[in-house]
Amino acid sequence: MNDSMRRAGAILLVIFGGTGLWWAGSGAPASASANDAMVATIAAAREHAAASDPRLQGASRFEAGGWIYLHLEGDPGAIGFQHGYLLAPEIEDGFAAVSAGMMHSTERDWEFFRKAAREMLWPKIDAEYQQELMGIVEGLRTRTGSKLDVDDIVAFNAFEELPDYYVPWLNKQQRTANAPNLKSPGNCSAFVAAGSWTKDGQIVMAHNNWTSYRNGERWRIVFDIAPKNGYRMLMDGFPGVIASDDDFGINSDGLMVTETTITQFEGWDPKGKAEFVRARKALQYAGSIDEYTKIMLDGNNGGYANDWLLGDRKTGEIAQLELGLKAYKLWRTKDGVLSGSNWARDSKVLKEDAPQFDPNNKESSPNARRARWDELLKENKGKIDVKLAEQMLGDHADTAQKKEEANERTLCGHVDGSPRGVKEWDWQPYYPGGAVQGKATDAAMTKEMRIMARMGHPCGGDFLAKPFLAAHPEYAWEEPYLRDMKAGPWTEFRSGQAPKE
Ligand SMILES: [Zn+2]
Repeated sequence: MNDSMRRAGAILLVIFGGTGLWWAGSGAPASASANDAMVATIAAAREHAAASDPRLQGASRFEAGGWIYLHLEGDPGAIGFQHGYLLAPEIEDGFAAVSAGMMHSTERDWEFFRKAAREMLWPKIDAEYQQELMGIVEGLRTRTGSKLDVDDIVAFNAFEELPDYYVPWLNKQQRTANAPNLKSPGNCSAFVAAGSWTKDGQIVMAHNNWTSYRNGERWRIVFDIAPKNGYRMLMDGFPGVIASDDDFGINSDGLMVTETTITQFEGWDPKGKAEFVRARKALQYAGSIDEYTKIMLDGNNGGYANDWLLGDRKTGEIAQLELGLKAYKLWRTKDGVLSGSNWARDSKVLKEDAPQFDPNNKESSPNARRARWDELLKENKGKIDVKLAEQMLGDHADTAQKKEEANERTLCGHVDGSPRGVKEWDWQPYYPGGAVQGKATDAAMTKEMRIMARMGHPCGGDFLAKPFLAAHPEYAWEEPYLRDMKAGPWTEFRSGQAPKE
């Protein structure tokens, strides 16, 4: 009997020990195929034994419209365990794609990110989320025997903030020779409207997620989380990540949250608290715009710096929290519209946190989309509802060229069709990225914890990996991870939803 078989026998004993089953190890064939069969049997046995784990009670998963809906509930450890267990294949797959991207852009090895997670981020993560992150690892291991540990999962959760905020800051600090040209990302087009701007006078909120198609095609989870403490949450998200991260979410106290990222943001505070932790905490515990702001400011590390667009359905008030590191500003109104497409507007934030950004370049993606939001929202003043918001998220008007053409300047982004790319984010010509999915909701839907979501380009267009890679060999490194991204239908999701409803 070889070592792996001995180990296999030992694992089976552990698994069946508690249920009174027994496995006789002697005389088992030692051929490779029998060994493979044995490993598969063990995997099945592990999964079978774990499926009755009490921590999985109440959790569920189903698929609809290209999304994976996940219901999680209980204490932090249980929520993490359910997440890791029910999404194990998607987490392994997402981790491979995301970690490859982090290493490729920064020219750093994975151990670098594990160390940053362990030494810089972990000590400042609230105990509740440490337990949830450890639960994810345990759920993963129980389901698949995954080799990922908590350092991997923490680094992975910080996939927006470590490569594009921490590393450029560190390169500058250390005067790293030949450092790669890293830029903070420019994720998303979004708006929140209220008062005389919307059809029913109540809040309407919509968002499409801009990212690489490599990551974006995997950004297909709808999380319905009923935590032991705090408010219930319904949000879109990425497998293995505890925050929405793109971000779009509502909570049971009526808070509505989305954001777009600040282009050409610079800065990082190594003593601060990870953004993914603050963002998750704010959605879980904030019942008002003030509470949301307070949680996001507490330990602000500058990571993944966003213009947060907020709504409180209880008061009908909307707000924009432009969260720089050195400066920030909060605007709020009960009658207005606040849009985002990756530009900062406060003069202090611009000067201190995004000094390279040019607000006057009408040809750049953030400013061209800003002009389009202004135009489109004004045209529809008083008529805005969720249906209209869905259409707006798929808009292809390019204000710089004054024509319809899906490219890097349109609200529904298709940078793979642009010979210009987006230099502000270091997206080269024809970069395979853009709008990867969209979501919308309003105050009435939020009261019932409902959102609309569409996977893929919000316009309904498909991205096909094979012809793209054939035409653009410069992106060949993405080939193992880049898949087709086909648009699904606009699909409604709600808290407590059961499969096939
Ligand atoms: Zn489109």
